[in-house]
Amino acid sequence: MSTPHLDRLLFVQGGLCFFCKQPLPRAEASIEHLVASANGGTNGEDNCVACCRTLNSLLGSKSIKEKIQIVLNQHGDFRCPKNREQVPAPALSPLAPSAEETPEAPDGDSGSLLKAPAPPLPVEGARSVPTASPTVSKTQQDRIALVLADLRKRGNSRPRKEATLTSTIQALIKQRTNQPISDANLKKLLQEMRRRGLLTILDGNVTYNL
Ligand SMILES: [Zn+2]
Repeated sequence: MSTPHLDRLLFVQGGLCFFCKQPLPRAEASIEHLVASANGGTNGEDNCVACCRTLNSLLGSKSIKEKIQIVLNQHGDFRCPKNREQVPAPALSPLAPSAEETPEAPDGDSGSLLKAPAPPLPVEGARSVPTASPTVSKTQQDRIALVLADLRKRGNSRPRKEATLTSTIQALIKQRTNQPISDANLKKLLQEMRRRGLLTILDGNVTYNL
């Protein structure tokens, strides 16, 4: 059986990484053997996929069971590990909508929220929150849940000024996730909360509709 050509795999996958479904430049692509060669996997096309080089080196010759576990552990929000040597991409224009979260740490921060479980949201009398926009990352959604729970607890002592609200959110995220939120992500978080109608900011004054 001949080794499937990387170009052919990329073509079949529509130019996307098999795992994270992000556009995959050929220079960053590599062939992943689902069943590792060390474990008897063949070079056949049915055993090979093109994926981000960083993920390929992480998967290495792990067993297929471990690989499936790694995929399942991402809960459908699969992102290949970021390349450590990668030069950070230029900051996105705030007007450009993007599904990508602004990078803020070389290792990414998805999963770090698991260390600090969010308190359960109040159920009694809680208004249902409009569905999250599909462009908001899991990490951002977790942050919004944290912020919402905290604001709801505060009742009438919620920050009334935008500046106070942003510093409150920064402190809360830092405290609860052990990781600061970048200015860009803070801005996106506020945008998303406004989009959901949870708060309105007018001339620096905040009104809530939690
Ligand atoms: Zn990938």
